Amino acid sequence: MKPAIVIIDMLNDFILEGAPLECAKGREIIEPINKLIEHGRKKNIPIIFITDSHDPNDREFKIWPPHAVENSKGSEVIDELKPQKGDIIVKKKTYDGFFRTNLDELLKEKKIDTLILTGVCTDICILHTGSSATLLGYNVKVPREGVAALTDEDHEFALKHLENVLKADVDSLDNIINQL
Ligand code: ZN
Repeated sequence: MKPAIVIIDMLNDFILEGAPLECAKGREIIEPINKLIEHGRKKNIPIIFITDSHDPNDREFKIWPPHAVENSKGSEVIDELKPQKGDIIVKKKTYDGFFRTNLDELLKEKKIDTLILTGVCTDICILHTGSSATLLGYNVKVPREGVAALTDEDHEFALKHLENVLKADVDSLDNIINQL
């Protein structure tokens, strides 16, 4: 197994109190994600941040309030998880980290075959990125404590879909860490 740790949309505009697309539960997953990242760094596992980076008039803003506009403070990863030298950042404009990005190319270059998906929201960007990853032939692992959604219902629905339909390995953070 050649894994990469993927952190999706842990940005100021999603996580901070009062943020335009605040996912309050996202603040509860900061510590678990940090634990995973710390473990990953020790094992030289690539750390990939996938971040929303929208044009000022992005069509997504017809659905959601404006958020994560390219080069704004809101589009930056939260201070608690700041990317370090050597980490990879992939900017996306949709729910799907693979859609019109170089993510697939980059993973193939590094011969990565397994993605550990963390971040927000379980039922939106995690689910859509996990779906593309599966269709492209990657193994997907999702630590329950490393993802969050706006509501528990949305969170549970997405985990069930990832597990039952996409055949992702949905497991506890500790179990996933122990496999690395
Ligand atoms: Zn967005």
